[in-house]
Amino acid sequence: MKVLGIESSCDETGVAVYDTGAGLLAHCLHSQIDLHAAYGGVVPELASRDHIRRLPMLIKQALAQAGLESRDVDAVAYTSGPGLAGALLVGASVAESFALARGIPALPVHHLEGHLLSPLLSADPPQFPFVALLVSGGHTQLMRVRGVGDYALLGESADDAAGEAFDKTAKLLGLGYPGGPQLARLAEQGVAGRFRLPRPMLHSGDLDFSFSGLKTAVLNVVSGPDWDPSAMADLAAEFQQAVVEVLCAKALAALKKTGLKTLVVAGGVGANLHLRQTLDAALQQRGGRVHYPEPALCTDNGAMIAFAGAMRFAAGEAVPGEPSVRIRPRWPLAELKPPQAAVG
Ligand code: ATP
Ligand code: MG
Ligand code: FE
Repeated sequence: MKVLGIESSCDETGVAVYDTGAGLLAHCLHSQIDLHAAYGGVVPELASRDHIRRLPMLIKQALAQAGLESRDVDAVAYTSGPGLAGALLVGASVAESFALARGIPALPVHHLEGHLLSPLLSADPPQFPFVALLVSGGHTQLMRVRGVGDYALLGESADDAAGEAFDKTAKLLGLGYPGGPQLARLAEQGVAGRFRLPRPMLHSGDLDFSFSGLKTAVLNVVSGPDWDPSAMADLAAEFQQAVVEVLCAKALAALKKTGLKTLVVAGGVGANLHLRQTLDAALQQRGGRVHYPEPALCTDNGAMIAFAGAMRFAAGEAVPGEPSVRIRPRWPLAELKPPQAAVG
């Protein structure tokens, strides 16, 4: 079964084709970074308009890359939430229209389910059950995952997400937009420990997070009388170390609490090298394993949506008969259910 996946929840337009037999056949992406850079953040209306501009071309490209005609596609999966309402509407409308025109089913997919299942696209996929650490621009959550759609929330951030903390801290250090990856690159050149930042909630005894105070602590350092800008890399390294230490400690605590040995990391911050090295070392010591998406699939993409949709279609998930554009800008992941077959 060949599934066309469409992602448009924020500032990336992603289209991919996943074949339940042959795997990922095509994966095309357009990032709107340049479009939003001048504003220092995503402008929702500009994002929606650009998704409209890009999607038809990207669908053509993805089909060509897969060596397919549009009539060869068996089903469409699209991100229907959470995300920016206008941006979601574009992807949903295009996906539903494509499906209606071809007489094939269209399935709304949860964006975070896409992220969470993306490590299963790798050559050596994790087995259920596992603990998932979702670390993206909008979410920091620990989940116990028993199967597709069986997600229990173990803990989450009370304020900023990990990626958001990277981006906001990068912005106040003047690192440009989007700052997360740039801050991580700068951190590689510095030494952690020369500055001392807090490890928020490290000893809270639960699996929750809080990252907004860390950004404020950085602000206090750089606006203090002794601040020397030449020490920026050391400050970046200490910031990264603080985030990674907390993420790692809580992920280990979640494994201990659930009695599981497999950790899956997904979302943009999952691309962070220091996080990967720290988690790998910690799990190796405890006889467990960490699985990540390949780096290119950590941030938003169509492949994860095509894949999540394909998993649900393959499990016989029924699709509502009437075409309708379904989006849910706010949508808790733990509300999902395993694939539901049609009754009768
Ligand atoms: P959500 O999925 O919660 O809706 P999102 O789609 O915006 O949010 P992603 O695309 O998964 O988030 O990830 C983007 C985030 O990942 C950004 O905040 C970015 O700064 C962060 N990020 C990307 N690469 C790195 C890195 N190497 N180190 C730290 N953060 C990173
Ligand atoms: Mg993005
Ligand atoms: Fe995302």
